[in-house]
Amino acid sequence: MSARLLDGTALALQIRQELRGRITEFTVRAGRPPGLGIVLVGDNPASAIYVRNKLRAAGESGFRADLEQLPASTSLDDVLACVTRLNQSDAHDGILVQAPLPASMGAGAAQAVFDAISPDKDVDGFNPTSVGRLVQGRAILAPGTPSGIIALLERSGIRIGGTRAVIIGRSDIVGKPMALLLMHRDATVTVCHSKTPDLPVISATADILIAAIGRVAFVRRSFIKPGATVVDVGINRVSDPAQAREILGAESPRLADFERRGSVVIGDVHPEVAEVAGALTPVPGGVGPLTIAMLLSNTLKAAETRLGRGSKVLGF
Ligand code: NAD
Repeated sequence: MSARLLDGTALALQIRQELRGRITEFTVRAGRPPGLGIVLVGDNPASAIYVRNKLRAAGESGFRADLEQLPASTSLDDVLACVTRLNQSDAHDGILVQAPLPASMGAGAAQAVFDAISPDKDVDGFNPTSVGRLVQGRAILAPGTPSGIIALLERSGIRIGGTRAVIIGRSDIVGKPMALLLMHRDATVTVCHSKTPDLPVISATADILIAAIGRVAFVRRSFIKPGATVVDVGINRVSDPAQAREILGAESPRLADFERRGSVVIGDVHPEVAEVAGALTPVPGGVGPLTIAMLLSNTLKAAETRLGRGSKVLGF
């Protein structure tokens, strides 16, 4: 058996196309496009790529997208002042501060910044007010990655209600909000983490298994109930050719990518899982593109809500 691949790239494109009419309507009614302000602090190369992709996607879709780029030496107070300016800006409906912040800013810096973002512009959904609304099942702006996964499952015809879902990873940005979104859709949810005993046994009870760990090819065939849906959130860059060959297999066309770029992105799920799972999200091209589509969807919802039209709770 070979798992059905759930194509996140195609769905992300479809969702972005579906937003077009509403973006035009908003722009006509408001006399300006919906606006997104992105704050990037420091010079983390991966963050720079993520931010560039978000700005490009927003621009292509008809949003105003502005970058506030601050050096790594910026103080927390200066980042907070930048967030305050965006909170007060009439032109910006959504605010995103790219994580991680430089380590030199201190352990609590990111949370302090998320706390400062106005909840009605909190398009990442990391502000405590947004988290509280999500817990209560009345979020308007839910975090992008888990929302994207729900969209992919629902639009692929995969049943959530009444199933058993297991999430590996309990982060604030993926694992925890994923658990809430699945629970609100009537799945029975188990959240596993680095201290969970018998992880393969628990994982193998899942009809829907979500891996958000950050460890290369960690989830093996033995973790999977035959026919289960497996969602691979991991983005792990592998630059050791022997490791890439061992995981991908000597015949994999992706080894050509490795030759060209000197590295390859591999998820948290080992490719052998495709032989047991019923459906699987590929890496790349699975969850990643949906995160950006949901960011745009959230920015438009924030804009519409600010203009007074409101938005469907937890819809897309
Ligand atoms: P994180 O580091 O904040 O959390 C990792 C979680 O995995 C923790 O809860 C930890 O307990 C758990 N974990 C670690 N080792 C484990 C082990 N051996 N057994 C069981 N659990 C273990 O990571 P995150 O921010 O949630 O991201 C997870 C992965 O998803 C990363 O690879 C990240 O790059 C990727 N990611 C992708 C997207 C996307 O758009 N596709 C978005 C966010 C994160």
